[in-house]
Amino acid sequence: MAAPPPKLNPAQKALLKLGLRRDIDLALHLPLRYEDETRITRLADAREGETVQIEALVTHSEVTLHGRRQLVVTVDDGSDTCQLRFFSFYPSHQKTLAVGARLRVRGEVKGGFLGRQMLHPVFKLAGGDLPTALTPVYPSVAGLPQAYLRRAVLGGLQRAPLSETLPPGCPPYNSEYLNKTGLQRNYSLREALSFLHHPAPNVSLTALEDRSHPAWQRLKAEELLAQQLSQLQAKRERDRLQAPPLAALPGAGLRQGLLGALPFALTAAQQRVGQEIAADLALPIPMNRLLQGDVGSGKTVVAALAACTAIDAGWQCALMAPTEILADQHFRKLVGWLEPLLAPLGKCVAWLTGSQKTKQRREMLERIASGEAALVVGTHAVIQEKVVFQNLALALIDEQHRFGVAQRLALRSKLVDGALEPHLLMMTATPIPRTLAMSYYADLDVSTIDELPPGRTPIVTKVINDARRDEVIERIRAQIDEGRQIYWVCPLIEESEALDLVNATQTHADLSEALPGVLVGLLHSRMAVAEKKAVMGLFTDGVMGVLVSTTVIEVGVDVPNASLMVIEHAERFGLSQLHQLRGRVGRGAAASACVLLYSTGDAPRLGEIARARLRAMAETNDGFEIARRDLEIRGPGEFLGARQSGAPLLRFADLETDSELLEWARELAPQMLDRYPALAEQHVLRWLGGKAEYLKA
Ligand code: ADP
Ligand code: MG
Repeated sequence: MAAPPPKLNPAQKALLKLGLRRDIDLALHLPLRYEDETRITRLADAREGETVQIEALVTHSEVTLHGRRQLVVTVDDGSDTCQLRFFSFYPSHQKTLAVGARLRVRGEVKGGFLGRQMLHPVFKLAGGDLPTALTPVYPSVAGLPQAYLRRAVLGGLQRAPLSETLPPGCPPYNSEYLNKTGLQRNYSLREALSFLHHPAPNVSLTALEDRSHPAWQRLKAEELLAQQLSQLQAKRERDRLQAPPLAALPGAGLRQGLLGALPFALTAAQQRVGQEIAADLALPIPMNRLLQGDVGSGKTVVAALAACTAIDAGWQCALMAPTEILADQHFRKLVGWLEPLLAPLGKCVAWLTGSQKTKQRREMLERIASGEAALVVGTHAVIQEKVVFQNLALALIDEQHRFGVAQRLALRSKLVDGALEPHLLMMTATPIPRTLAMSYYADLDVSTIDELPPGRTPIVTKVINDARRDEVIERIRAQIDEGRQIYWVCPLIEESEALDLVNATQTHADLSEALPGVLVGLLHSRMAVAEKKAVMGLFTDGVMGVLVSTTVIEVGVDVPNASLMVIEHAERFGLSQLHQLRGRVGRGAAASACVLLYSTGDAPRLGEIARARLRAMAETNDGFEIARRDLEIRGPGEFLGARQSGAPLLRFADLETDSELLEWARELAPQMLDRYPALAEQHVLRWLGGKAEYLKA
């Protein structure tokens, strides 16, 4: 019988919540900041606003009841007196703070009418030596007192095996820094950790805070190396897997057929990425490639050509999109392009979504299992267990950032023949800035479409106060008169989907009234799928002049005749979301515009971040520049969304400031894996523990 799991107290549970399982995890849990308890300050010398430690005698203690009930304690250190105020306190506190007690008190000194004061200072009975190092303050969670955490970290630090993992003779990771500071050598891991947990009081606080201190350099270098190693390991493991090499069967001509049937010529960028993808598909190693290209750059046709390559080689292909509307649109487009070519071969395009009728679904599943369906388009439904492919060789994932790691893994594991993996092509209009690609996506190959199809006129973006809404409606009328169509997007109000709806419904009613004779449609997430499709259909066919919608249209929809995008409460949207929305227009030859309506609500003006976003939108149409600014505004953690990327985020290193360390890690990682695999293994395990698994997605 298995032993019952040990009972954990709340603090132990909190430790686990922070991911602090092993001694090494504790040792690598570094302070946020420090408190200086190495000195006692005389009250008379303490400046207002300064946080100090004093040693003083309690001369008076009482609970006052005027105003808020509080415990007021007067202490005297011989140089001056100070009042300590507590709004919440227990009898045990009162006991310690009794008249005559000698205390060591630490807190921020406030001056004022009644003399010096400290609010809720930390205190204990005086006595014992003063610490000789700064006191660490660790990142913590509720239910985990600092004192407990400090003891746990100290224990971990003492027990953790901290043998060196950097290979012998490995080049210095910070030669520039060493030169600049005249430092003789770098810290060992043990030295670095001991120092950062308990720095000497005379150390430069700036060097600790901006993490430029050599001890920090050591840790950041180690962390980046672990990241590079684990991704390289994942890549090498993947390279050992087998995938079907996709070479066209004799007489197969789907790819050529599609190229011939397209109403346009591919751009140079589309041709280039098409070749990169085709080269991968010809190899017996599973492709793991990200196709990034700005909204409207024409990723779909590149994906369709890849699908043709798989079908020409006698295999099946699946395309998965994050929403039903988008999947539906892909389906129609691909059916239009491919059915005429597939039908003579006795093959078809199948369609799978969650909302499908049982009978139709069963029919589709049969076609997929028999191989009659050469291409399967759908939503998450594509990766459900019941879906059995005859021979899936290529999985295409549109708007990759919207899918979780688990879903991507599930799609990959769909291939019937267990020995073979499908090739994977992910598409995204949210490009990954170079620094992130180098660190977080080191095991992913990236193809970039850096050119829009010809004949597009750049979108003009205007940021307008909501008070000028009438002018915007005038503009809509003018566009309608020219035969154009308009999107009007209402924001998602996170707290309340219902409110969201009220807002969109109201706007729909207002616009219908303001624009007599124009068909104004409404689209929101609560509508039934069939209804959504019907509305979308009217808009696609040009019958509907204005489409009011919540953010359901965010990704991928393609209506070239739409020339004006109005985004209401634009200040509430994220930058990449705004850019995606704007990308819905400017898809045809007509001059297009995007109006960002903002409202400051009751505030006199917009917050700094919202303003930075709107400014970025007005200043550039370039998706890469937008991504760069987005990263700047949000930082890598939020930009990536740890859950979506599945990559453990860097805790210590900063890609902007630590580029030298990153370069070092990138160079060292492959050599280390080749020549010192055991050290590499040990290093990754130490830093990433169980988390390294994630990276393989
Ligand atoms: P995205 O990259 O945002 O997914 P789409 O694949 O939806 O973009 O393409 C946007 C529009 O551009 C579609 O209407 C598509 O048919 C068209 N398109 C794609 N490639 C070209 C091209 N080379 N020349 C002209 N139009 C193109
Ligand atoms: Mg698309």
